[in-house]
Amino acid sequence: MEKETIVIIGGGITGLSAAYYLQKSIQEKNLPYEIKLIEASNRLGGKIDTLKRDGFIIERGPDSIIVRKKPGVKLVEELGLKDKMIRNGTGQSYILVNGELHKMPKGAFMGIPKDIEGFLESELVSPEGKKRALLDLEMGKGEEEADQSLGAFLRRRLGDELVENEIEPLLAGIYSGDIDEMSLMATFPNFYHLVQKYGSLIKGLQETIPTPPKPTGKKVPGVFFSFKEGLGIVVDKLVEKLNEESITMEKAVTHIEKIDSGYQLSLSDGEIVTASAVIATTPHQTIPKMFNDIEFLNVLTDVPSSSVANVALAFDQSAIKQDIDGTGFVVSRNNDYRITACTWTHKKWPTTTPEGKALIRCYVGRPNDQEVVDLPDEELINIVLHDLNKTMNITAKPEFSVISRWKNVMPQYTVGHLERIEKVRDEANKHLPGVFLAGSSFEGVGIPDCIEQGEKAVEQVLEFLQL
Ligand code: FAD
Repeated sequence: MEKETIVIIGGGITGLSAAYYLQKSIQEKNLPYEIKLIEASNRLGGKIDTLKRDGFIIERGPDSIIVRKKPGVKLVEELGLKDKMIRNGTGQSYILVNGELHKMPKGAFMGIPKDIEGFLESELVSPEGKKRALLDLEMGKGEEEADQSLGAFLRRRLGDELVENEIEPLLAGIYSGDIDEMSLMATFPNFYHLVQKYGSLIKGLQETIPTPPKPTGKKVPGVFFSFKEGLGIVVDKLVEKLNEESITMEKAVTHIEKIDSGYQLSLSDGEIVTASAVIATTPHQTIPKMFNDIEFLNVLTDVPSSSVANVALAFDQSAIKQDIDGTGFVVSRNNDYRITACTWTHKKWPTTTPEGKALIRCYVGRPNDQEVVDLPDEELINIVLHDLNKTMNITAKPEFSVISRWKNVMPQYTVGHLERIEKVRDEANKHLPGVFLAGSSFEGVGIPDCIEQGEKAVEQVLEFLQL
């Protein structure tokens, strides 16, 4: 019997996870379908990109996966990689405020205090700032609107000073965006629900986020995981599990047309593929281009994306004269720094770095400093070294550096994002039945969120095809 085809567009973690779960269902239920995963570039993994050089493991994109979100760990277990998981080193981390490094206060969640005593001892916020933040405990839930900017919500609950000195540098780094533009409900809906339930964000976090056990001298495992070989091993394993003939690379999907039996996809080399169902996992901007003339998709063109770059610098350990005990720091906006974060990778992930060497990775690309991403390599490295030398005394040039630019690919979930996406999906159900949208542009940028969306899209395809 001739098999029908289900196409997955994009070979990042969302597309690869979808292909993996779809292949599993096809095999388990012996379904008369085959998979075609189409990837435009010459490599798989999308933003996951591990580079091996001179004994170093350098992550050009994500460096770790959070343990707390189950779909990540579940997939890793299915791939037989559980025994290879490593946890991050749990040293002190810092926030750079007004030109000085301050220890990240204990007992805080994303910079929001849970341990009041620890908060009162912290030097990051003035006595007035502390008083203002603690008003959250007495404010009640008020007339909170569900969706609003994350910044407006936090500033109202906790005051500007705590938000700017402690919370913003942590949150902005995750989304590479401006918290005053980001949607509360698309990023941290739990914050809204906690205020509704407990009348206070601080109280809500105290009640629901477990307090870490008191130090016993034993090492506590970190909250993130990776692998000695880097995150690329997850991509390699997924590819190994997939039928080789189901993967097409170096061909972009350029156009999709609805036909009676499903969809006809045109690829960049002229090939035509017919599919019964399609899972699109590309960045959102490409979707209206592939389905041109479909008006309801145009809203995706307006979803902004920001750029970031990271600069990995490899040194001999002896070059770092003023070593700081810890794993790295984030930079608040009230500094004349252009780097936004710095990880002492050799301490956070010791297996990335050969003995006697140091690996430092810094980010640039604040919302109001996007042009930095386009600077020539040498200028960018000099900016990073200049900033690093304000906190660490580095006397030698790096042995080598690796710059990774991520241009216009960090989707920004601005206020109203979830509603907009839901509307697009509703319209797609009506006018493009059998087409499903998944990936970091839609419902979460974290790797576990992407894996979950890939798996969910497979369930939707199976339901649509009544399998
Ligand atoms: P992508 O990885 O972008 O994959 C989409 C794929 O579609 C690409 O391979 C692209 O080539 C392909 N494509 C595009 N157009 C077409 C077309 N027309 N036809 C065919 N193929 C096409 N997350 C974490 O959980 N932990 C972290 O530590 C972390 N750090 C990050 C650091 C950086 C620098 C970046 C950039 C992201 C980070 N993230 C992190 C986020 C996470 O890496 C991404 O959200 C996730 O990898 C996105 O996966 P995806 O499959 O949805 O998209």
